[in-house]
Amino acid sequence: MFAEERLIGFLHALGQHRGRLSGRHERVQEHDNPHIHQLYQISTLNAIMEGAYDGTVTIEELREHGDFGLGTFNGLNGEMIMIDGVVYQILVDGQVLLVDDQERTPFAVVQFFEPDWQDHLDGPLVFDDLSDLLADHLPSTNYFSAVRIDGQMAAVRARSVARQQKPYRPLIEVVKEQQVFDFVDITGTIVGFRFPEYAQGVNMPGWHLHFISQDRQHGGHVLDFTLAQGHIAVEDTNEFFMELPKNTEFAQADLNKDQSDAIARAER
Ligand SMILES: [Zn+2]
Repeated sequence: MFAEERLIGFLHALGQHRGRLSGRHERVQEHDNPHIHQLYQISTLNAIMEGAYDGTVTIEELREHGDFGLGTFNGLNGEMIMIDGVVYQILVDGQVLLVDDQERTPFAVVQFFEPDWQDHLDGPLVFDDLSDLLADHLPSTNYFSAVRIDGQMAAVRARSVARQQKPYRPLIEVVKEQQVFDFVDITGTIVGFRFPEYAQGVNMPGWHLHFISQDRQHGGHVLDFTLAQGHIAVEDTNEFFMELPKNTEFAQADLNKDQSDAIARAER
């Protein structure tokens, strides 16, 4: 088969037959929801790097675009994780709150999660092994991948950040004061996305993961983890919708700088 035919076949599979990518999974569901299989992002990561910490989209609006994802809140007030349609806020002191629908977000990535592939995992699995593990199951790294890992974690190193006051400082300054949490032997869920290298400037190339414990009492932006055992589920997406904040902060931010080094230092 010509490469081009294979690609067309793959795109067809992505769009219509979600079950066929790996050959070892679950049922296909049809939906009326126009946002299904579409990754939805608010703002760009470079805008966050520049300190554009106020957005215009409410959590209520965000929920129309997904039931699964991550982000932050206006003023950079902690880490967001959305799981099974519920939005949690992990504050800098480690406290986990349920989020009001009228809260706003300056940056978030969500989708309606319907895995293409899933499997049981006997660990240990560490963050750096995630790409290798999935190499056989991701047909190409040129698409967007969402991952959910439920299980027993031997260790999770997570962080949160403090609510900022104006004038906002760049993220690379703020994370110098981040609060790091080391969780040991904790059951919970990791939610996140992998963006391709070419998405630099728009989002973070590679994996961006957030964690929440099963009892919903602990969590944060994942700096590292070791899974003891659990369940992994992955969905590939080829539709990407981005909504930019309509405010002067975003309008005046310099979004054209190469922030790759700063992003690598701030996010991992
Ligand atoms: Zn994060």
